[in-house]
Amino acid sequence: LIAYCRVSHSSRKRRMFQSRPPHHIALSIVIPCYNEEACLEELYRRVKASAVAVAPDSHEIVLVNDGSKDRTWPMMQSLALTDPKLLVVNLSRNHGHQLALTAGLDLCAGERALIIDADLQDPPELLADMMAQMDADGSDVVYGVRRKREGETLFKKASASLFYRLLSKLTDVEIPVDTGDFRLMSRRALNALLALPEQARFIRGMVAWIGFKQ
Ligand code: UDP
Ligand code: MG
Repeated sequence: LIAYCRVSHSSRKRRMFQSRPPHHIALSIVIPCYNEEACLEELYRRVKASAVAVAPDSHEIVLVNDGSKDRTWPMMQSLALTDPKLLVVNLSRNHGHQLALTAGLDLCAGERALIIDADLQDPPELLADMMAQMDADGSDVVYGVRRKREGETLFKKASASLFYRLLSKLTDVEIPVDTGDFRLMSRRALNALLALPEQARFIRGMVAWIGFKQ
């Protein structure tokens, strides 16, 4: 991480160097972003509205810029100036989706964390239902599952379908099919995930592996 910014919260800076942050925020929403200038503003608006709906006073949004080559980082900084509950993080270069997400999860402080991609292929408005599901049955991971994949090519759909089915043949770990990283996790599940030292990370598989009620 070479830079990060948040208005009026210096304690966060210290926390970057601790192994686990203190957890006094009800909900974190963590979003890795690579060249997302086109949807960043809509993303922020919709994610913010969803967060305010479920945890008006106790949420944070963590946007991780993964070495974008477009205006993603300056746009993030401008947004952060308007919202003290927005934490923006700038990685030193493009590290890839899984490491960008890991950096965000490592920094987030919520009792629960929602993971969502920046491209709005998964609707942040489902957050309220996912929170309710977690409240209702005490699960540690609530997945958002895609019924259909919109705006993707036939090749992407077919290769994704093949990937998940091949993967399930290769491993004993039951990895839910047709889920992206869109999921709500409890702090204890998140801590279990963050304790795994793997550098080549496949977060979907690792979350399935940790156990708990999913
Ligand atoms: N992403 C990232 N670093 C990368 C590539 C992607 O942080 O090198 C982010 C991207 O901005 C998005 C998420 O990871 O929020 C998923 O990326 P994408 O939508 O391209 O992946 P797919 O939908 O094909 O799984
Ligand atoms: Mg996508």
